[in-house]
Order: sequence, then structure tokens, then C-alpha cells
Amino acid sequence: MALHIETPLLESRPLSLASGRSVWLKMDALQPPGSFKIRGIGAACEHHAGNGKKRFVSSSGGNAGIAVAYAGRRLSIPVSVFVPETTSEWAKSLIRQEGAEVFVHGASWQEANERALQAVDAEAAFIHPFDDPLLWTGHATMIDEAVRAGVSFDAVVLSVGGGGLMAGVAEGLERNGLRDIPIIAVETEGAASLAASVEAGKLTELPAITSIATSLGARKVSQRAFEIARTRPVDCVTVDDRAAVGACMRFLDDHRVLVEPACGAALAVAYTHADRLARYERVLIVVCGGATASIGQLQAWQAR
Ligand SMILES: *Cc1c(COP(=O)(O)O)cnc(C)c1O
Repeated sequence: MALHIETPLLESRPLSLASGRSVWLKMDALQPPGSFKIRGIGAACEHHAGNGKKRFVSSSGGNAGIAVAYAGRRLSIPVSVFVPETTSEWAKSLIRQEGAEVFVHGASWQEANERALQAVDAEAAFIHPFDDPLLWTGHATMIDEAVRAGVSFDAVVLSVGGGGLMAGVAEGLERNGLRDIPIIAVETEGAASLAASVEAGKLTELPAITSIATSLGARKVSQRAFEIARTRPVDCVTVDDRAAVGACMRFLDDHRVLVEPACGAALAVAYTHADRLARYERVLIVVCGGATASIGQLQAWQAR
């Protein structure tokens, strides 16, 4: 049995009214570890367990680390998560809560990641947060579910960090005969590495991440994500942190589910940038979720 669950698909009255079209929500915020990431990471971990791996290693202090920890607990395989000193106590406690061991190393993700790679031996599998075909095939199941539910849509709105979610959705659309359906790829200002690459016409690395949406904080998207943006209909949208946090607060009132600004970015397209949806009648938004933001943190961001 898969490690992810089949999530609800809801027609949202508040988001439909806000955006002037029919909006459907794929509620992956309800996955047990709090985000869509368990779809791909669960599939990758099951694959490696089947190949005899005895340990999983991750270098994400965010939702990928939480998902690997969750998968390891479910599969009875020990997990080591290497995180930088900047990772919050809250995020570390979420990883430990799943029974994984947390190692703090270095000032940034780069250094934590290097140490994680040193910890990988023949018995261990390294689980990348976004750049792995096993992940994309797993993420694609959310489109299988939406199609199986019989809901038709003419665009998919999702957020982009390193582009694993987008690569998975593109694969899901392709394998369901929907390759022409546009993807609205949303990033926050200060984390818009896909938009920067598309604009430059080549894979581009941002000098730094300055958005509060840390789950979108890949300085460079994967080669695959960039290829997808060049070879199928993808529309890049950038929203500011204020819009992303505002969308989280409105969504909490509207649907009583708390999500990170990384997810709020996609919701903000319906709430405040509906002009970007002008060509579409029935939009599917991937509510990717995220477990690392609290209500207090959202309120503090909003007050700034
Ligand atoms: C990881 C993550 C993203 C971005 O996914 P990528 O595959 O890196 O593009 C968006 N939202 C949340 C909540 C995430 O955890």
C-alpha cells in the first residue's frame, strides 16, 4: 500500500467567487506528513527499500525531510536528516517526532547537504527533495486521482521550488492524455528561480533566496523543470510574500486548513491575481500544504 493517501478534491466556493471562475482544490495539505511531498518521496523510499537499502538520508530541514522521516517510520527503516543551523526548532521537532535522527551542520543547506552525501554508503539511499524521476512519478498520482474523480479542468495552478511538483504534475497530465493543459507555475519574489531561468533562456542560479517562503527556496530549479517550461505550456507567475501570507490567512478562514506561504503563493493567484486566469474556466489548484508554519508565525509575518 502506498505511503500517501488519496486526498479530497473540492470545488471551492470562496476561491471560485474570488476569482470569477470555477476553482477545484486538490487537498494535499491533508497528507499525513503535511504536504504533497510524501507522494514522490514515499514512492522513492519504497523503491529503495525494495532494493534492500537499510537507511535513508535527507538534507532537507523542511517538508522533504519530514516526509522522508515519515516514510522511514512506516517502512521501519532508520532515517538521518542533515539540516543547517538556520533550521527552526519547530521543523527539527517535526522530523524527530517521526523518529528520525537530526544532525545540524553548517550555515546553509549547501554544507548540510555535503555532510549528508558523505553519510551515504552502499546500504543507504539519499533522497533528493525535488530532482529525481522516482519523485516525479510519485507526485503524478495526484493528477491520476483528479482525472479518476471525473473532474475536468483547463489549467493547473501550482507552486514551484526546485520544480519537483511541476515535473510530477506534467508527468501526470501527460500520462492521462492532458499534455496540452497549461500549468500556471507560481513563485514568490526572492525565490523565483524558474521565472529567472525562463527569462534568461537558460538554467539560472539566483544569488540568494530572500522570500519567507523557504519551501520554495531552491536557488536553481532542476534541468527537467526548466525543460518542461520550455517544451509544454507553462505560464510563470510571481507573487510577493505579502500576497502569499495573505492567501494563507484567507484560506484558513475559508477552508479551515493552515498552509505555508509556499502554498499560499499558488492560492494567491485565485485570491488576488485572478487576471492571470482570464483564459480559463475551470482551474485545478494544487494545495501543496506544508507543515512548518504555525498560526503565530503567519500572524507575525502579516504584521510586518
Ligand atoms: C517542496 C514544496 C514546494 C515546492 O516543491 P518543488 O518540488 O521543490 O518545486 C511547494 N510547497 C510546499 C509546501 C513544499 O513543501
